[in-house]
Amino acid sequence: MNAHRGHHPSPPFDAALSAQAFHETWLATVDPTGVGQWFRRQRLDRLIATATRDSPLYARRARSARVIDDFEPIGKHELMDHFDDWAVDRRITRAGVEAFIGGGDTIADGWLERYLIWTSSGTSGQPGVFVQDAASLAAYDAIEALRLRSTGPAGPPLGLWAAGRRFAYVGAVGGAYAGHVSVARLQRIAPPGWAPTLCEISVLDPLDEIEARLRAWGPDVLITYPTLAASLAGRTVNDRRPLRFGEVWLGGEQLSPTQRAFIGDAFGCVVRNSYGASEFYSIAFECRYGRLHLNDDWVILEPVDADHRPVPVGAFSHATLLTNLANRTQPLIRYTLQDCTRFVPEPCPCGSGLAVIEVQGRSDDALVLAGRDGGTVTLLPLAIETVVEEAGGITEFQLIRRPDGSLELRLSLQGDAARQAFDRCRRALLGWFARQDVRTPRLVHGHGGPLRAPGSGKLRRVIDDRAR
Ligand SMILES: [Zn+2]
Repeated sequence: MNAHRGHHPSPPFDAALSAQAFHETWLATVDPTGVGQWFRRQRLDRLIATATRDSPLYARRARSARVIDDFEPIGKHELMDHFDDWAVDRRITRAGVEAFIGGGDTIADGWLERYLIWTSSGTSGQPGVFVQDAASLAAYDAIEALRLRSTGPAGPPLGLWAAGRRFAYVGAVGGAYAGHVSVARLQRIAPPGWAPTLCEISVLDPLDEIEARLRAWGPDVLITYPTLAASLAGRTVNDRRPLRFGEVWLGGEQLSPTQRAFIGDAFGCVVRNSYGASEFYSIAFECRYGRLHLNDDWVILEPVDADHRPVPVGAFSHATLLTNLANRTQPLIRYTLQDCTRFVPEPCPCGSGLAVIEVQGRSDDALVLAGRDGGTVTLLPLAIETVVEEAGGITEFQLIRRPDGSLELRLSLQGDAARQAFDRCRRALLGWFARQDVRTPRLVHGHGGPLRAPGSGKLRRVIDDRAR
C-alpha cells in the first residue's frame, strides 16, 4: 500500500483542523450537555450562514433562514437533481465527480486536492454522491478515535485504536463506498508504524473464498455487516479449527439481539455495533451497555412522521431528518434519511449524557399489512426478524412482500432442513400476525436462498417490493 504513496495526491487531511476537532470532541465527551450543546449551536449557526450565502440551492430554498426550522426537509433526489448548485465550491459538479470516481484506483486520493468522495449504495433507489472536506473528515476521525473505538471491555487506549493492528474489512470494495474509501484513506494518512494492516475482501465473493482468505490473513478485528458475520459464525460453530477474532465491528445493516449473541459466542469475542451513513460517517456509537449514543455535538437527528412532523420522544419515527454539522462544503440540512429512529427517554447506565437512540430500518423495510378491521398495521423489521430467528433457529433469510400482497420467505438451508425451518417460521409468523390483528397473508416458501444487493452487498432481510 505504502509503495504507491509517492504517486498519488494525498487524501484530505489538515493537522490543525484535526487537532481542533479532537480537542472539541474530547471536551464534549466529558461535558455533552454543557460544552457539547454549545458547540452544536455554534456549528449550526455557521452551517446555516454558509449554506444560505454560498450554496445556490439553499440560497433559493431558504434565503432568510436563521434557525433550523426555517428549512423544509430535503431528499436525496432533489439534491442529486441540483447537484451542481448544492455545494459551496462551484468547482464541485456532477460531471467532475463522475470523471474522478470513474478513474479507477484513485478513490482515496484528494479530488481537487481537497475533497474525498463517497457514493451511497442506493438501496432506496438513486445512489447518492457525498463530498467530504478536511473539516468533516477531522470530525469523523475524532469521533472514531475518542468514542467509537475507545469504549467497551476490550477498548484500546484513546487514539491508538488502529495502530499496528491487523484488520479484515469484508464489505463493498468495488466502488467509492464510504467504508472502503475511509479505510484506504486511514492507511494513507497514518505515519509510519501507525497504519493499520488491512485486508479488504468483497462481501459479494463466495463464502468459501471469504473464509479461506480470513484464515490465511488471521486478523485481530473483523469489520463487516451483521449478516455476513452471522454467516461466517454459522460455518464455524462445528468447525474443528474455528475462526477466531479479537473483536468484530459491525455496521451497515440492522443488528438483532439474536445475531449479536450468535456472532459473539461463535467467535468468542467482543461484538461492537455502530450506526453510520454516507451522509454522516459515525452517527452513533455503542457504549459498554450495548446502547447507541448519538454524536449530537456533530449531527442533529429529528425523528419525524410521514408528513415530516416530529414524533413524541420514545416513539419510533417513519423517517429521520439529518443535519450534518461537520460538513459546510456540501451542506446537509434536514436531509431525509429513510431510517426509523427513536430517542430513548431513560438515561444510560454508562453515565454518558449523549442521547441514546434506537434504529430500525437501515437496509430493511417496515411492512405495512392489511389489518383485520380494514385499516393497516405497520410491522417493524426488527420485530419480524426476531420472530423468524426464534422460530427457525436461523439468521440467514429474506422475507419479501410481493406486489400481489403475498409474502415469500427465502432460506439459505436446503432439502428437509429448509422445509422444516420454513414450516416452523410460517406457523410462528402467522400466529404473530394474528396477534397484531393483521389479516392472514399468503406466505410461500421461496425458491433459492437470500440474495445480497448488487454493489453494496448488503443483505436486506425484510423487503417490501411494492415500496421500492
Ligand atoms: Zn451508554
